[in-house]
Amino acid sequence: MKDFSYVNAADTETALAALRTHGTQLLAGGTELLNWLKEGIEAPEQLVDITGLPLAGIAPGPHGQLRIGALARMSDVAAHPTVVREHPALAESLLLSASAQLRNMATIGGNLQQRTRCPYFRAETALPCNKRDPGSGCAALESGDTAEQAVFGWTPDCVATHPSDLAVALAALDATVLLRGPGGDRRVPADTFHLTPEQAPPERHTVLAVDELITGIELPGGGSGRLSHYLKLRRRSSYEFALVSAAAVVELTGGPRGAEIVSARIALGGVAHRPWRLTAAEEALRGLAADDLPALRAAVAASFTDARPLPDNAYKIELAQRAAVRALRNAVRRRPARPEAEGSPR
Ligand SMILES: Cc1cc2nc3c(=O)[nH]c(=O)nc-3n(C[C@H](O)[C@H](O)[C@H](O)COP(=O)(O)OP(=O)(O)OC[C@H]3O[C@@H](n4cnc5c(N)ncnc54)[C@H](O)[C@@H]3O)c2cc1C
Ligand code: SF4
Repeated sequence: MKDFSYVNAADTETALAALRTHGTQLLAGGTELLNWLKEGIEAPEQLVDITGLPLAGIAPGPHGQLRIGALARMSDVAAHPTVVREHPALAESLLLSASAQLRNMATIGGNLQQRTRCPYFRAETALPCNKRDPGSGCAALESGDTAEQAVFGWTPDCVATHPSDLAVALAALDATVLLRGPGGDRRVPADTFHLTPEQAPPERHTVLAVDELITGIELPGGGSGRLSHYLKLRRRSSYEFALVSAAAVVELTGGPRGAEIVSARIALGGVAHRPWRLTAAEEALRGLAADDLPALRAAVAASFTDARPLPDNAYKIELAQRAAVRALRNAVRRRPARPEAEGSPR
């Protein structure tokens, strides 16, 4: 491991000033960064410890939004009463991530900035990987081992997926990522925070500039009217990244045929290098009866006409559609039971 200097940032301005020095990495929970240092993925000149910054709060905003600081721990966010009550998909995405010990250390900002789990990117011996060493090639494509790679938004330069469960839930929940840089604050919709190799060179993971930091995330108000669920499918039932995941957020109304979908938002994980919103499906779902399973399946399928499976991962197309429908139905099931009418038969 290369030597580096260590700076403890007393305030946000100090952290931002430090980011102007080439080779600086911010240190939050350290659960990703320390692995990168050991594996040689990163070799920073200086680490800037931001754990003392006042960015760990979870509090309502002026218009009923919920603001969560970038340094809030995953476990604290998952247990927060407003998150559990109004945004259960967010709590579920966090509780299904990593392990209890990691969630107690890891922060929201660090989670969004985590890197792909592509085994070639993380290999101990350097292998061709455009993400780690731009221009070196893509060992995943060259070796033909593509079982866990992307089916949307990839290019021959990189076929990796993004591993954050949290990011998928935030994309469906219409959340905003809050950033601060030398020019002030800016707000980025969560579903555009991560980049695919179609949008930027593979070594670029997110829209965060090198001189910016994440200060927090914001969830829209009125969460109690929306029903949500996060579903994660993986090779083993705990301590494992998603093969495919789905976050669904739905608003319902009572209609002549029972509950009807007023609006739906679905984001998938494990299928692209960013949370993949099913916008065609969302459009097709509007006005459908919430219990019409064949119609729900057909609506979700509308978003898969442009899927591009690789040699070993066509299974993800079926798995992802099933996950999306299941997440949607699980969200619908969260509808509060109607109070029984007086005198109605028991
Ligand atoms: C064994 C293991 C299993 C895991 N399983 C899952 C899983 O199933 N699902 C999942 O979603 N995640 C999983 N993770 C990832 C885990 O959630 C991340 O390691 C963690 O969230 C990173 O947060 P941190 O605070 O430790 O970040 P750090 O390690 O401190 O930092 C990570 C990166 O983020 C940057 N960063 C941190 N905070 C900020 C900020 N405020 N602004 C700008 N940049 C910042 C750092 O500079 C660094 O580049 C797993 C990790 C491990 C080690
Ligand atoms: S898929 Fe991306 S991360 Fe994996 S080896 Fe290829 S370039 Fe590297």
